Amino acid sequence: MTRNLKDHGYRLTPQRLAILKVLAHTDRHLSVEEIHQQLHPDYPTMSLATVYKTLAVLKREGAVLELEFHDLRNRYDSAKPYPHPHVICTACGMVMDPEDYDLRELTNRIARETGFAITSHRLDFYGLCPACRKASGG
Ligand code: ZN
Ligand code: MN
Repeated sequence: MTRNLKDHGYRLTPQRLAILKVLAHTDRHLSVEEIHQQLHPDYPTMSLATVYKTLAVLKREGAVLELEFHDLRNRYDSAKPYPHPHVICTACGMVMDPEDYDLRELTNRIARETGFAITSHRLDFYGLCPACRKASGG
């Protein structure tokens, strides 16, 4: 992962490396606050503002994908920093990646049909995660 970043000529400041490490060692989609909390033991002086700023840079450089929500905290994915489908729990807010689906055919169809030059997409599926289903008896 860090090699990949270097290959792309990213500048790896200690803050960027630390945040990318946190994201690399989770299969969850963390919020800024969660990233900040996990960094705290090793980087007690790193502020929440620094985490925000660093994530903004990483996003701009294409190293992380930001998922913006209006009713949940934004989440970050460095494992797949490109558009891909997500499943989102409406009860606990957990965000997961389903397996990889090839959306190129669908994208090409939509481009042909609409005349758009498609550059990105956002595909979210909402529902109850297994733990919340169990808790609700459903
Ligand atoms: Zn849930
Ligand atoms: Mn993801």
